[in-house]
Amino acid sequence: MKTINFSDIRFGYDLVVVGAGAAGCSFLNNINEEYSVLCVDSKSFPRFKACSGILVKAGKDYFSTEKLSNSVFADTAPLNIKYLDLDNNLESKSEKGFFNTWRKNLDQWLFEKNNNKNINFVSECKLIDYYYTKGKKHIVIVCEKNGDLRTLVCKYLVGCDGANSSVRKKLNNKSIRYYVAIQEIFNQKFDDDAYFIFDSSVTDFYGWVIPKGDKVEIGCAVPPYKAKDKYDIFREKMKKKFKINGGGKIESALLLRPKKFSDIILGEGNVMLCGEAGAMITPSAAEGISSALISGKCCAEALNEAFNKDPIELYKIKLKPLLEQLKRKFEKSEIISDAKKRKKLFS
Ligand SMILES: Cc1cc2nc3c(=O)[nH]c(=O)nc-3n(C[C@H](O)[C@H](O)[C@H](O)COP(=O)(O)OP(=O)(O)OC[C@H]3O[C@@H](n4cnc5c(N)ncnc54)[C@H](O)[C@@H]3O)c2cc1C
Repeated sequence: MKTINFSDIRFGYDLVVVGAGAAGCSFLNNINEEYSVLCVDSKSFPRFKACSGILVKAGKDYFSTEKLSNSVFADTAPLNIKYLDLDNNLESKSEKGFFNTWRKNLDQWLFEKNNNKNINFVSECKLIDYYYTKGKKHIVIVCEKNGDLRTLVCKYLVGCDGANSSVRKKLNNKSIRYYVAIQEIFNQKFDDDAYFIFDSSVTDFYGWVIPKGDKVEIGCAVPPYKAKDKYDIFREKMKKKFKINGGGKIESALLLRPKKFSDIILGEGNVMLCGEAGAMITPSAAEGISSALISGKCCAEALNEAFNKDPIELYKIKLKPLLEQLKRKFEKSEIISDAKKRKKLFS
């Protein structure tokens, strides 16, 4: 990947990718070098995204043939989960063996491993709009950096632009349920498993306490109305319960929690969506890194093979195992949000 100046963006590319997070990097690391590609991301790089960095089994499997750099891991010990249901006063443990990563380091590693010279990358550059040319053969892209605008043309547009995706909104303006995830890292060691906490007085989703090296993270996904007040209540409860002192730096981001399987969108025509932009995140536990990695890779493979075929159909076929896995999580999501039904899950 070659970082270029905004003024050096060419007039045309085969592909434009919006967003260089987990989905974008996975796409870029798997796309054929024959394509000329422009990737833009509105953040400065190396980027920071508020995220706990837990890599579940599907994400671990994604990296089964490569060795992640040591700097990626917050803790090399496999991470297991204790479920704490405060509504029903229940606790249970699950030997998950997840990876416990520093999300910023994972993102940087994914970004820096790319050595495809046919990819131009521009940071702090935002997609503003896009539209088809007459006959729908090409897409016109409008992007912006520091108040300057640039227009270019491409054949395919790949939206890897996360929960608040502009690419998705232009394709399909149906709203998808979202939460605000707020978290904080405290300078205190936590010698325990990670906790996923259910407390309907704060949220119908869940909160977490996760060991992070010699630190500990408290976080909660709360509905948007009075989000910070709800988080503060949760934070004080957790500090008291786990004897965590002081305060940390608050970070937050939007989190999609699709209500139904049909909220997931893979794209339309020559516009494709990967990761959270396509609402590919588990509605039961907000695990989005693995879906972003897998969908980015499948989308790139579909385009690599799509000569004279519909890339979205191919993408759908490649994504089938992930889509089936996501489909199964909708029922679980309903159960965990209902304190009565949840009782059966953890007793
Ligand atoms: C607090 C929190 C904790 C989480 N913890 C976990 C966890 O432990 N495990 C897990 O699996 N998932 C977790 N998630 C979910 C996970 O972070 C996301 O699902 C995942 O990052 C999605 O990856 P993505 O590449 O699709 O999008 P993102 O990582 O959000 O990347 C999107 C990129 O697009 C760029 N962008 C957006 N709009 C534009 C635009 N118009 N123009 C240019 N660039 C644009 C952004 O700058 C960003 O870099 C968590 C989420 C939150 C908020």
